[in-house]
Amino acid sequence: LGTKIVKALQSLTNQVVVDETALEAALKEVARALLEADVNVKQVSELRQRVKNRVRLAELPPGTNRRRLIHKTVFEELCRMLDPGIPPYRPQRGQSNVIMFVGLQGNGKTTSCVKVAYFYKRKGYRTGLVCADTFRAGAFDQLRQNATRARVPFYGRYGETDAVKVASEGVERFRREGFEVILVDTSGRHKQEAALFAEMEQLDRALTPDHVIFVMDGSIGQAAYDQARAFQQRVRVGSVILTKMDGHARGGGALSAVAATHSPIVFLGTGEHLDDLEEFQVQSFVGRLLGMGDVRGLVSTIAEADLENPDEEQMNRISQGILTLRDMQMQYSNVLRLGPLSKVASMMPGMAEILPKGSEKDAQTRVRNMLVILDSMNREELDESTSVRWDDSRKRRIARGSGRSVQEVDEVLTQYKLISKAWSRIGKNMKHLMQPGHGG
Ligand code: GDP
Ligand code: MG
Repeated sequence: LGTKIVKALQSLTNQVVVDETALEAALKEVARALLEADVNVKQVSELRQRVKNRVRLAELPPGTNRRRLIHKTVFEELCRMLDPGIPPYRPQRGQSNVIMFVGLQGNGKTTSCVKVAYFYKRKGYRTGLVCADTFRAGAFDQLRQNATRARVPFYGRYGETDAVKVASEGVERFRREGFEVILVDTSGRHKQEAALFAEMEQLDRALTPDHVIFVMDGSIGQAAYDQARAFQQRVRVGSVILTKMDGHARGGGALSAVAATHSPIVFLGTGEHLDDLEEFQVQSFVGRLLGMGDVRGLVSTIAEADLENPDEEQMNRISQGILTLRDMQMQYSNVLRLGPLSKVASMMPGMAEILPKGSEKDAQTRVRNMLVILDSMNREELDESTSVRWDDSRKRRIARGSGRSVQEVDEVLTQYKLISKAWSRIGKNMKHLMQPGHGG
């Protein structure tokens, strides 16, 4: 299906001349898509201005593909807004690097702290975790359980209410023992209370951390700027982790967090498990903001793989966001040829939601089984997937033909529904971006 995105974009971008009015309309549609993704209103208008300043239509040489230029400029400006130009922090080997995690309660600090500990541990750093959340009952237990699962040494104390004291003790102990990465999990509180910030300042002074990471829920939207700014004013935030990006959040608050802290986003939290942590990739992220999947990543990946291509009619349909089971069949067989599913999934809208979380091998097997089921479907089922009646006898026939169970046939149909939904959304967004004159 990735090929289809690219092809659809290509066909749309090769259309007629774009004038000033059309540029305005295109920017309006882009703005709408970004506001839907929870990007801050001020930043959206800033982006529009920047794009307008850069795309000077009158000065372009004839023959320039103007639509593509607008699209490219929007994409680049969004990347720029998400990249403060600071290289991500790297702990120094052979030294004790103290990293403090801050953020409001429930945003995912403890979870992220342990994920990051696990990440560094696997990179070969001697890593320890310190629980400085003395505010919430059960905070230490939560850290202890997760740290045990990650097999990362931890420090904390029951019944102690002085966060600075516990944190200092823990950091001191890990330093003494020659730990290289010492991660300090702090308390959050529900609101931006004065007491919380006072405690963060005290911890900052006592520990003088080498780095501070601000953890923010990716779905908080318009509140992101003030929240990030409040922390930045008290402690020198050095980088940002955006959590809960496995849900429906498109993550527009990310732009706010970067603007408010002048810090790069380093990781995305994509689930509750230890390895649900992705290193931040600005281009994929912008693709996601715009609801298109990772268009650029796909272009280069697809160039290297030998894939089935959609025909004209298929392309037209898909660019309108309409999908059949045959399209899904093509997508799955392409996906198997593209390489690691986990990587491909993050580039294709709708795929991440349907692939199993387990190992690469499990995911491959699952996709193969689905292909076997799709192979047992007839022409009508594949091409007129929404109009045929999916009754039990039909499902039983397909199950028998493929040697799989009716339940698995049902699963394929459920996945089809999920992907179709993702695609109709993308079709809409692509129209917003690429066909400005037509409204949406
Ligand atoms: P803290 O109060 O900031 O320490 O937040 P926690 O780490 O305790 O997380 C709050 C809740 O969000 C917990 O139920 C976590 O399991 C959940 N959570 C944290 N990060 C993620 C994530 O990336 N994805 C999902 N789905 N849940 C998350
Ligand atoms: Mg916590």
